Amino acid sequence: MSSYEAHFKVWRGDVSGGGLEDFKIEVNDGEVVLDIIHRLQATQAPDLAVRWNCKAGKCGSCSAEINGRPRLMCMTRMSIFGREETITVTPLRAFPVVRDLVTDVSFNYTKAREVPSFVPPADLGPGEYRMMQEDVDRSQEFRKCIECFLCQDTCHVVRDHEENKTAFAGPRFLMRVAELDMHPLDAAAETGLDRKTTAQDEHGLGYCNITKCCTEVCPEGIKITDNALIPLKERAVDRKYDPLVWLGSKIRRR
Ligand code: SF4
Repeated sequence: MSSYEAHFKVWRGDVSGGGLEDFKIEVNDGEVVLDIIHRLQATQAPDLAVRWNCKAGKCGSCSAEINGRPRLMCMTRMSIFGREETITVTPLRAFPVVRDLVTDVSFNYTKAREVPSFVPPADLGPGEYRMMQEDVDRSQEFRKCIECFLCQDTCHVVRDHEENKTAFAGPRFLMRVAELDMHPLDAAAETGLDRKTTAQDEHGLGYCNITKCCTEVCPEGIKITDNALIPLKERAVDRKYDPLVWLGSKIRRR
């Protein structure tokens, strides 16, 4: 096994401010960035705050920015960097810092609560409906989400525009709206909930200009833009300019 000494810069601080701290630290074959952060805690910075849990790319806890790119620390191999390269680890920029690499991601839980849940059909018994494979595949792709919030962090709508946060749900939760709107059994419309309209009016779909930055950072490889955001935009526009919907609204106003 070979090892070498790497140069790390890690952001230390809290809500009142902070800065990058330099470390020289041992790296061994096969290690990931989270291993190095743990070694820093064990040897040089015992009070370094970091959130992590599974160390297997499934809990979505150890999100951070590594050399400026949103990544999971547990899934970022040290071997992708040159041995002479300085590796900078900073907290997610779109969310308020709690301490060191830990951010307050409660914005995302607020947005999650704003999406009405799946509405099962009232009169459908178990086993009475057979889903098409493409509907199964779509739901399964979106359900791979581990809620790491890297897509939320990188999305330029909120990354540098705190003022947009109230009006914009972010790619992760617009994907949830898309999943439910395209689900063949979702009966929300029968309760008076039009997910296409609320996507625009309440979740800020119009802010998204499909730059695909969310798709690029997703560790689960979910095609957020192509398979969720663009289809949802198309469905919302179809709905808005549907001549039958327009006629119905005119008649109702009489
Ligand atoms: Fe993370 Fe991808 Fe889910 Fe976004 S869609 S929260 S990047 S797993």
